[in-house]
Amino acid sequence: MLIFYTMAIAEALYNVHKKISSAALRSGRSADEIKLVAVSKTIGLEKIIQAMKAGASMLGENRVQDAKNKITELKAQRPDLKPEWHLIGNLQKNKAKTAVQLFDLIHSIDSASLAEDINRHASAVDKVQRVLVQVKLSDEVTKHGVSSDGVMELLEKVYDMDYLRLDGLMTIPPFFEDPEDTRPYFKWLRELFEKAKAKGMRLHELSMGMSNDFEVAIEEGATMVRVGTAIFGERNY
Ligand SMILES: *Cc1c(COP(=O)(O)O)cnc(C)c1O
Repeated sequence: MLIFYTMAIAEALYNVHKKISSAALRSGRSADEIKLVAVSKTIGLEKIIQAMKAGASMLGENRVQDAKNKITELKAQRPDLKPEWHLIGNLQKNKAKTAVQLFDLIHSIDSASLAEDINRHASAVDKVQRVLVQVKLSDEVTKHGVSSDGVMELLEKVYDMDYLRLDGLMTIPPFFEDPEDTRPYFKWLRELFEKAKAKGMRLHELSMGMSNDFEVAIEEGATMVRVGTAIFGERNY
């Protein structure tokens, strides 16, 4: 059993990397400009360790408490493995303090008040917290993120906070069977990113693209893709 999925995960990871390279080449970039966040939400530690042994170095979790358990457990079992932990899910203010303790990068800043809370907690422990602002480009009620109308104002506020380092933007577009249908959303996020840079903000990260559409996202400028199912298989919630 163990050997079966060890090979399956390593092979799946290899295939994802191949696709990343091809998509990077198609967009005139080099594959090492694109970071792969292996989305490990709901996935057990054994499989996560297999992925890390096969080269995964950034892990994405969507719940603070689940991440905390995994991080603690991984440290106990394998102190030699030191992944970067990314929070890719919605962050509630009452978890902001814990999130600052746990995560290298928080992808989901969607309001000035959340940013202020994180800034305050980061300041208290003298940490500069890397963050992305999450933008909501569709009107799905289930999705979080600042609207495209509010994004510049939020970016400027976050950019100026002393204990936050704003690296860039993130989005979760609506799901389409055909990834080509997602392309306009990726283009749109890229435009907002360029607009912010034109205002003088030094941003370098565009977190967009998941299992179904990461190649299209890379063609449109993604520097960070968040891939779960294509590495670990279907999740059973
Ligand atoms: C679950 C999740 C992913 C990964 O989705 P897959 O389709 O399994 O690759 C990426 N980003 C976010 C924000 C997620 O919640």
